[in-house]
Amino acid sequence: MNIEQIKETITTVYDYPINGIVFRDITTLLENPDAFRSTVKIMVDKVAHLDFNKVVGIESRGFFWSAPLAYATKAGFVLARKPDKLPRETAFREFTLEYGNTSVHIHKDAIQPGDKVLIVDDLIATGGTALATAEICEELGATAIHTIALIDLPALGGSKKIAEKYGEVITLIDY
Ligand code: AMP
Repeated sequence: MNIEQIKETITTVYDYPINGIVFRDITTLLENPDAFRSTVKIMVDKVAHLDFNKVVGIESRGFFWSAPLAYATKAGFVLARKPDKLPRETAFREFTLEYGNTSVHIHKDAIQPGDKVLIVDDLIATGGTALATAEICEELGATAIHTIALIDLPALGGSKKIAEKYGEVITLIDY
């Protein structure tokens, strides 16, 4: 499948989880084996030119893309999780979502000084989640930070904000 065909497998849900949000539901993409495999393959191709040794997957919809990307690129896989999910000491950032406040946490020993990371999520809206994740990676000593997301909502300006601070943001599908 090409990117246009993959886009057609994503379902749009209006007013979820709150009024006014146009939610891009990728579960229907994941259920389609051709779409799932094609998306991972395109993502792997798009990061081929980047230098990284760890993939940082953002909970939870980022995990579907980050784990296969880490496997395919022979990188380590690091979890960026919501509060109270990781059992050991974490570095964390609080931030504002398109809908509500939350924080993102990474085990302190998951990133070592000098690591080069690829941050992966399903969708960049305001960019708050990916930026918070990038800031934690930086605090823990990462020397290069790359970002890929399946979907970008460019009107919300998140990908631009991340690109200004950390360089190229790779996305496949815009809405
Ligand atoms: P943000 O931090 O504003 O860039 O929001 C990105 C995170 O929120 C991602 O992990 C997405 O899964 C989720 N998200 C935000 N807006 C949407 C949306 N319109 N549709 C689906 N997921 C969204």
